[in-house]
Amino acid sequence: MLTLTSSIKEINKVGIATARQLKNINIEIVEDLLHYYPFRYDDFSAVANINSLKAGINANIVGHIELIQNKRSPRKKMNITEALISDSTGSVKAIWFNQPFISRSLRAGDKVSFSGKVDEDYSGAYLKSPNYEKIGENKGAHTQGLVPNYHLTSGLTQKQLRFLMAQIINISERLVDWMPSEIKNNLALFDLKDAIKNIHFPQNKESLNKARKRLSFDELFLIQLRSQLIKQEFLEYKADPIKFLEKETKEFVKNLPFELTNDQKIAAWKILQGIEQKKPMSRLLEGDVGSGKTIVAVIAMLNTAFNKKQSVLMVPTEILAKQHFNSICSLLKKTGIKIGIITNSEKKLNYKQDSKKDKVIDSSFITQNSDIIIGTHALIQKNINFKNLSLAIIDEQHRFGVHQRKKLIEESDNKTTSPHLLSMTATPIPRSLALALYGDLDISIIREMPKGRKQIITQIIAETDRVACYQFIKEQIKEGRQVFVICPLIDVSDKLGVKSVKEEFEKLNNIIFKDLKIAMLHGRMKSQEKEEIMSAFADPNTAPDKKIDILVSTSVVEVGVDIPNASIIIIEGADRFGLAQLHQFRGRVGRGEHQSHCFLFSESNSQKTLDRLNALVSSNDGLALAQSDLKLRGPGEVYGTMQKGFLELKLASIFDYKLMRYAKDEISKLFNADSKLKKWPSLKEKVDEIQGEIHLE
Ligand code: ADP
Ligand code: MG
Repeated sequence: MLTLTSSIKEINKVGIATARQLKNINIEIVEDLLHYYPFRYDDFSAVANINSLKAGINANIVGHIELIQNKRSPRKKMNITEALISDSTGSVKAIWFNQPFISRSLRAGDKVSFSGKVDEDYSGAYLKSPNYEKIGENKGAHTQGLVPNYHLTSGLTQKQLRFLMAQIINISERLVDWMPSEIKNNLALFDLKDAIKNIHFPQNKESLNKARKRLSFDELFLIQLRSQLIKQEFLEYKADPIKFLEKETKEFVKNLPFELTNDQKIAAWKILQGIEQKKPMSRLLEGDVGSGKTIVAVIAMLNTAFNKKQSVLMVPTEILAKQHFNSICSLLKKTGIKIGIITNSEKKLNYKQDSKKDKVIDSSFITQNSDIIIGTHALIQKNINFKNLSLAIIDEQHRFGVHQRKKLIEESDNKTTSPHLLSMTATPIPRSLALALYGDLDISIIREMPKGRKQIITQIIAETDRVACYQFIKEQIKEGRQVFVICPLIDVSDKLGVKSVKEEFEKLNNIIFKDLKIAMLHGRMKSQEKEEIMSAFADPNTAPDKKIDILVSTSVVEVGVDIPNASIIIIEGADRFGLAQLHQFRGRVGRGEHQSHCFLFSESNSQKTLDRLNALVSSNDGLALAQSDLKLRGPGEVYGTMQKGFLELKLASIFDYKLMRYAKDEISKLFNADSKLKKWPSLKEKVDEIQGEIHLE
């Protein structure tokens, strides 16, 4: 007996291979499958009369098979299946090529539903390779009514997914509907089970709309609720106020080798005001790659250090930690501030300790003796005790995970005190979106780039110019430059006509650039391995035999790492990526004194694609690009692949202000009635479950 938590392997006809493919799209249990929503529906709700068929249209007919047979085409060695189908208005021919099995599954006399394109030959209109489905007692799942289309992964078919879905759809009866009934009544929302049933197999357009409304509302509601709960919890904490030391700060800023941009000054000022409070600050600092977020963070850390308190800067990878450590040490050289780094492979301080030189530097020595600590997740994984931790900064992550924040509080000396928190990201989130979704954070945005940056030259390259492009790259590499090549996929087997990393690597390595050193980077490699390749590529002091000229990679190449010597980035299948993401890729180059280039190859030449890519050619503003992309594609598409876990919106649109507003209003009503949600235990449980998932991020 299947239940919501049954493994998908228990569903009839799911073998090992199918289970693995489903796992690729994060479907492991029945409930996951129920929440895998279609992205589109084919509308076969109108059944056409056969005598009304005209060439060029898509049609859905229902009729009896009069005759079905296989033939060989005389010239080409092709197997042709022909069927004659009739309804009360007439008859029509259907033709399939090289699918002889069809004549075994359909027989004369069967009542069948067909859907497909109508074409024309000398004898008149006919159906060309239509989808078909025998009509027994069951309503046709593939060819009748509104038929769901799902995003697929290689090896899975629409038919298969619909077949599985149809088998389990009734298990949705058991879903706990966690939405308080007063909200459902207020907004005339479907029950959860009806929403799930109708999102997969809508009875009609109206019930599809109601299903969409309920499930979209759920997404917007939960995101905002989560954010409000965090805010509430956080308000219960106190924080160490960090006094703004004007003289010291001005002195430091004056001695920088550059002048701060206006946006940097404003952001720094807001942060300094925030950390001066007795309540913990929670702020998001957003700015395009290269906009200079680090220095803003450094100003805050400098003040914290002069207040004799500690700050940490947490980053996602070791390379980034090392780069930050080196650059911050040199920025703060004259201040006497003690800086430490803690990663799994490196534990260091910027000052000499005792003369007792064999003293081992361990994490606790660093945490007890540094004003500023820079590190990776190692900072919160180990049993680390900070000393006077008052400011925590996390770089290149969309936000401080609730879990990380809790961890830091737990590790502080005083459990009722929380450090001030600053998250920094290059993800271009429009302010309205950030506010709506992350109401618990204050937001600063740096829009202005430092003066005098060299523009990256961006070009769309036609396939016919590929050879010339490779020639140019050869010359640049001869001059000592390095090159990124970004591809959409890892394996050829994932292929849907899209460039894969492995294939591209082979081609470049064995044919195009035989005498250059090429390496490969993708998400299925171990993180240690990735770190090694990235640092070999990034580090100017890499030994000659380990030097990498070209790095072929999926979208995993990380944000934030400075590789001044990399001056070219090629993006294959550029049409597959969102503008915001393409812009982020582009930001991997243009960090040094060399003129940098971004070459875009596209597999589609449609006007729409070209328009989109041209927007990238002519604009260098990440936020503006993201905004225009958001209008064309949903946030899931724009941000989904860029930063996992950023937005879990599958159905809802962030432009649905009305629904967002409703969610906000309903949440404040709930809080007015019971801010701890004790009145709605299943809602509470649902929220806790989401928090749990975030912990694992
Ligand atoms: P990001 O916002 O991507 O983290 P960084 O903080 O790494 O950017 O800054 C990128 C580079 O720009 C660094 O080399 C930094 O020293 C430099 N920089 C920062 N602010 C300015 C400025 N106002 N003028 C000139 N260069 C700056
Ligand atoms: Mg940065």
